[in-house]
Amino acid sequence: MIHDNAFVDVALFLAILLPSVILHEIAHALTPGAKHGYTWKLKCIEIGGDGNTLGQEPNRRPEPAYALVYNGEVCKTYYRRPAKSTYAKLPGMYISSQPESRGRLQIIKVA
Ligand SMILES: [Zn+2]
Repeated sequence: MIHDNAFVDVALFLAILLPSVILHEIAHALTPGAKHGYTWKLKCIEIGGDGNTLGQEPNRRPEPAYALVYNGEVCKTYYRRPAKSTYAKLPGMYISSQPESRGRLQIIKVA
């Protein structure tokens, strides 16, 4: 039997690459504004995708999902939702160089 390499390549594309591209795009549709952040990556994997982005280094870290903010400035970033204990400690947390920041730090979702 003769195998046509071009046919094999197309079949490979349809079987492997195309579904991952479609799942990639569906994940975008399900996570508006999340770009390729952690929220998008989790959704992509949840629906059966690989969570990878074409045209970027495969091991690139996702964008931070949460940020610790004081006065509109990002002090720290988190790749996952911070632990409940972090939220519990928040009212007493402050930036060492800015003691007046005590009780004014906020954790916001950024992706
Ligand atoms: Zn994308």
